[in-house]
Amino acid sequence: MSIDLQQFSALQKASKDSFFEQKKLVKQVMLGKTVLCSHCKQALKLYTPEQDELTGIRCVKGCTDIALDFV
Ligand SMILES: [Zn+2]
Repeated sequence: MSIDLQQFSALQKASKDSFFEQKKLVKQVMLGKTVLCSHCKQALKLYTPEQDELTGIRCVKGCTDIALDFV
């Protein structure tokens, strides 16, 4: 299999963008704003160590699942 360099850079850009989007999303949820899952349109919920062993931001259906480490 050969790697198409143009495709590869497009892929890298996409993941960089989604990383940025994710950071923005996390910040909004942390601030207590209602953010909807881009897939199921359900509100995302922040899980802190007091609430769940698996900390992070998730929607009810689990299509959005961002693991966060609380230190
Ligand atoms: Zn979802």
